Amino acid sequence: MKSKKFRGAVICASVLCIILIISAGSFRTDQMTSTIVIGNSRIDVAVEKGTLQVSKDDLLKWVQWAAESVSTYYGRFPLPHVLLRIIPTDGKGVRNGRTFGQRGGFITIHVGANSTFEDLANDWMLTHEMVHLAFPSVADEHHWIEEGIATYVEPIARVRAKHLDATEMWRELVRDLHQGLPAAGDRGLDNTHTWGRTYWGGALYCFLADIDIHRQTQNKKGLDDALRGILDAGGDIRQDWELTKALDIGDRAVGAKVLRSLYDKMKDQPYDVDLPAIWKQSGIEVEGGKIHFVDDAPLSKTREAITYGSVAAGSNSVSAISVVVGDTAMNFPPR
Ligand SMILES: [Zn+2]
Repeated sequence: MKSKKFRGAVICASVLCIILIISAGSFRTDQMTSTIVIGNSRIDVAVEKGTLQVSKDDLLKWVQWAAESVSTYYGRFPLPHVLLRIIPTDGKGVRNGRTFGQRGGFITIHVGANSTFEDLANDWMLTHEMVHLAFPSVADEHHWIEEGIATYVEPIARVRAKHLDATEMWRELVRDLHQGLPAAGDRGLDNTHTWGRTYWGGALYCFLADIDIHRQTQNKKGLDDALRGILDAGGDIRQDWELTKALDIGDRAVGAKVLRSLYDKMKDQPYDVDLPAIWKQSGIEVEGGKIHFVDDAPLSKTREAITYGSVAAGSNSVSAISVVVGDTAMNFPPR
């Protein structure tokens, strides 16, 4: 999630819970700090005190994969520098991700002590948080666009960096996107602040925009180009922008009036969508919980372009170029 307010005090309180579990491969963290350099960006990883079952290498690989995914989608890591605070906690799995625009951009996330590498490899949350870095902060009523972009882009970014299977990405989108449809009494995305409309309503806006940009540009451009345009114009999480400014810049980047006009349709009224019809047009069939792609459906090429971008799959991967591990790497203490 994206946090508007600085909650440092809350974060610090949680590290009082130190769990000591000694098992093969586990390590006890003691304010371990590492740096991952990806392209021209630097991710400083600070692991709070605690114990984790996964090795230090595997923990950093998880961070690296998320950074690669976001960098592949946006063409670069969104910020020159970000601080990632990993807080070991009890249990298993990744939770409580929060991303802040303050202090140059930072992320906090909790990792359960019993998490395995598989848990981290399958995690979506850290990629979601890093996508938040790539869009400006907007007024509270537009929170849906921040969560919608993070929700929609995260699995596509992981597919493009080869960290998620495309079939799984579409299976989950078909399974979940209907939660963003307007219910009775809906007053549009700017006025209906339910969980479904915020996360999946925002994702629905992104999906519809992605399809329409592809339609208007004969599959030459997509939402990724619009979002890169916004980021390249300086619209990252450190900036406070009017939403319409971001949408207009995105539209200019793709040479089509999609983001602004779709916003006008969805902002203050329920805008219903026939999702089953879109899946059919996109050549996506679900049978027994499994996805089948139909390659001669009207929007099959758009489906491919949404999944892999306008360049060949995997050819635009961005890899971390160096990982520096050690307590001394932190020569940039939090301000
Ligand atoms: Zn979020």
